[in-house]
Amino acid sequence: MSLEDAKYIRENVMAHNKWFEDCIPMIASENLMSPLAKEMLISDFADRYAEGLPGKRYYQGNIYVDKVETRAVELAKKIFNCDLADVRPISGTVANMAVLFAFAQPGDTITTCALAQGAHISTCEFGAFGQRGVKSVNYPWNESDMNIDVDGTAKLLKQVKPKVAQFGLSVFLFPPPLKELEDTFNEVGCLVWEDCAHVLGLIAGGQFQKPFEDGVNVVSSSTHKTFPGPNHGIVLGNKLTEEQVKELQHAIFPGVTSSHHLHAMAALAITLAEMDVFGKDYAAQACKNARALGQALYERGIPVLCPDLGFTRSHAVAADVTKFGKGKECAKLLEDANIICNKNMLPHDTSSVNPSGLRFGSQEMTRLGMKESEMDEVADLIARVVVKREDPAKVKEDVKELKHHFDTIQFCFNAGESAYKYRKLVP
Ligand SMILES: *Cc1c(COP(=O)(O)O)cnc(C)c1O
Repeated sequence: MSLEDAKYIRENVMAHNKWFEDCIPMIASENLMSPLAKEMLISDFADRYAEGLPGKRYYQGNIYVDKVETRAVELAKKIFNCDLADVRPISGTVANMAVLFAFAQPGDTITTCALAQGAHISTCEFGAFGQRGVKSVNYPWNESDMNIDVDGTAKLLKQVKPKVAQFGLSVFLFPPPLKELEDTFNEVGCLVWEDCAHVLGLIAGGQFQKPFEDGVNVVSSSTHKTFPGPNHGIVLGNKLTEEQVKELQHAIFPGVTSSHHLHAMAALAITLAEMDVFGKDYAAQACKNARALGQALYERGIPVLCPDLGFTRSHAVAADVTKFGKGKECAKLLEDANIICNKNMLPHDTSSVNPSGLRFGSQEMTRLGMKESEMDEVADLIARVVVKREDPAKVKEDVKELKHHFDTIQFCFNAGESAYKYRKLVP
């Protein structure tokens, strides 16, 4: 019955494709690739191997792969204003593992944010940090402005004297005050590492933060969240010593990768080329849209965090939906209305399974051309489900109607084309 199995799998993938054309996706860690980038995923690169760095591969057959990877590295260094880029980590978590392998030994202590403060699982003791045998100490947190407390953090860094101070979040509403901590970093002599998975596309477009101007030494990231590339990873560095560069490259290969998903690397290269041209407009609109979404949800009675700070300076907003039945229930009702978002921990939560928050991201609908006024419409649809408790099936019809006006891709070389061109599998 193997053909039946294959049919079943393919049909479900097609059903998913169809469903998402009818959805408003608002998961803050997702995005849509451009048609050109997507095309790279079905190229012959997908079937090949490369190990090592361009010009120094273990395998033959990499003549063109080397050219593509070299260009990707050049583009990344230009866009992020740094002197080292490595496009081989195959995901954000793998990029994090590479930095850990390079700069932390089992038994070391790293300072980080806590899961409930919005940190990613890979930088927690339960995830990659702990599994590398690294202990973590969390920064003090200001719940009112959803950021680390500067004075408390400076004090903590001087006490703990970590080899590595790590920053970066998955609920990344405001830039961390790194500039204010620069003297402390120098005094302690720690390496400053920021995980920019959520905000890489904003940084590429000149929004949110300039990590290397803020004194960051190493950036690790995914390349598929606000940065609208393939599921992949990247590591960036600036002013590292020769020894540190060597350790980092050795950690990436053979530490945590073998071949590095060459089709995804090529798609990343295309996305870098597109972000070099369109990144600024896209990132600015994504940030404006997120603030507009925050405002519109707040006006409709949904307690969005940080109203006094304009809700966010990134693509993401977070809301406390305790009074509407907690995150899980609200996210499910919204899914029934074809609005896709996720439950999320908020600082006062102790359970990651039943948290009180919802997280929304503006980036994907920004790629599809939505502006501030459409964020208002989206907020209205969300509020009809969460606040007014309208039947999700009824709201779904209006979600579909709105979405069908926003199904072409923007901010890329083939702008205006169907965003779903490369999804049309032949029935
Ligand atoms: C998403 C995320 C990651 C993990 O990225 P993957 O590419 O999914 O492995 C790491 N760190 C942060 C802060 C994230 O938000």
